[in-house]
Amino acid sequence: MKTIGHLINGTLQVDNGRTQDVYNPSTGEVSKQVALASKATVEEAIAAAEAAFPAWRNTPPLRRARIMFRFKELLEQNSQRILELIGEEHGKISHDAMGELQRGIENVEYACGAPELLKGEHSKNVGPDIDSWSEFQPLGVVAGITPFNFPAMVPLWMFPMAIVCGNCFVLKPSERNPSSAMFIAQLLQEAGLPNGVMNVVNGDKEAVDTLLEDKRVQAVSFVGSTPIAEYIYTTANANGKRCQALGGAKNHAIIMPDADMDNAVNHLLGAAFGSSGERCMALSVAVAVGDKAADTLVEKMQEAMKSLKVGAYSDKSNDFGPVITKAHQEKVVGYINSAEEQGAKIVVDGRNPKVPGYENGFFVGGTLIDNVSPDMLSYKEEIFGPVLQVMRVNSMQEAMDLIDAHEYGNGTCIFTRDGEAARYFSDNIQVGMVGINVPLPVPVAYHSFGGWKRSLFGDLSAYGPDSVRFYTRRKTITQRWPSASLREGAQFAFPS
Ligand code: NAD
Repeated sequence: MKTIGHLINGTLQVDNGRTQDVYNPSTGEVSKQVALASKATVEEAIAAAEAAFPAWRNTPPLRRARIMFRFKELLEQNSQRILELIGEEHGKISHDAMGELQRGIENVEYACGAPELLKGEHSKNVGPDIDSWSEFQPLGVVAGITPFNFPAMVPLWMFPMAIVCGNCFVLKPSERNPSSAMFIAQLLQEAGLPNGVMNVVNGDKEAVDTLLEDKRVQAVSFVGSTPIAEYIYTTANANGKRCQALGGAKNHAIIMPDADMDNAVNHLLGAAFGSSGERCMALSVAVAVGDKAADTLVEKMQEAMKSLKVGAYSDKSNDFGPVITKAHQEKVVGYINSAEEQGAKIVVDGRNPKVPGYENGFFVGGTLIDNVSPDMLSYKEEIFGPVLQVMRVNSMQEAMDLIDAHEYGNGTCIFTRDGEAARYFSDNIQVGMVGINVPLPVPVAYHSFGGWKRSLFGDLSAYGPDSVRFYTRRKTITQRWPSASLREGAQFAFPS
């Protein structure tokens, strides 16, 4: 059976230590093994990155960007292979995996603008014959730790920008589906990246803790669940590192009484059940304003969900695939059970979906739950499955108060025809990414991605303009070339 190893200093290798099973979630079978890097292996990757840094930081940004142009072409030429790897290990249907890859490629396109992005700031004559400028220097070795749910896109949020800014990178992908990130890193080598600039170590806590504690690692980007994000952020900070740690979510959609209900239902279907709800921007709670809106919504959703098709990644007619593991399947079903036990109404029950030929796959069918209240476990916690919960409130303010009271603040959306209400909502809601009749308001690559509250630990969001700041350090230089006629005596007043 194939073992996915590590990419260190341009060479694929496997350390002879621990391994873990990698599943095909559609069949429930173990398809590969992944090597779990030891501390020594991670240190080897950090050393390779550190050794590559002096030459790479002095490589002109234009040349760094040219490698990204070639990398983008290779990603496009190899897209079918990448979609297959995502499908095999994640279970995502190819139309959805293509969306993920395309969004990742857009980050490479943004990175191609490095010479423009890194131009810095310049002021002539900040004093008599004195010029001052700020330049943005790379940090050195930086690390990325990524989740299972976007195995290609989230790594692409991080390393193209980090590398094009002049840093060297160590990526630790999710050990549950490591192949697409590894394949993509090899394409970057093929695009002409010098050895050691991009390294991939597979592994678990041992690998992550090594990255967090090693003094040579200057910064850590993390995306994953909130408890781990908080751990990463506090540990990285305690070790003197810059850190951005993006966490979990509970994204609410407000359905106003004036909303175009058929449009809202179509959008909710995709945003709640697409990718089996395993998206940090999934809309998992619909808050209907008024019983009439709620009744119409539930009735139309119930009808529309009859045609939802869950199944193996390899059948393009399926709407969504399995969840990632057997344990996660049980966890999602556990949340549905708990909602029922706490008094919610299961309107559409996806607990026992039939997927002929794939009886051992980790499937959960689309589930609709009505009459959910804030005290329920299924509301408080992130389910990360194909489950849409409906809550009923009497006013938009009540809906907004619910959203603001939740610990997460990643994404949200309002469905309405009322521009004034939408403007009030977007202006005041305590959430980082807001949609107005747009269910998945994932910022494009030339903006930045980040939630509020316990959905993001750190000051800067992922990718886009914030990533230039995150992956560089400002240095401000003030310069004068004194001539004999300009030479001044000692001055003891603060320069002004
Ligand atoms: P996870 O937190 O379990 O794992 C993420 C990474 O952390 C993996 O690389 C994993 O190996 C590592 N890790 C796990 N446990 C660790 C530990 N104890 N110590 C050190 N490292 C550890 O997350 P996941 O299940 O892979 O991904 C799903 C989660 O990610 C969801 O909560 C989802 O909302 C979140 N997510 C957030 C965003 C965002 O942008 N905010 C995007 C995608 C996913």
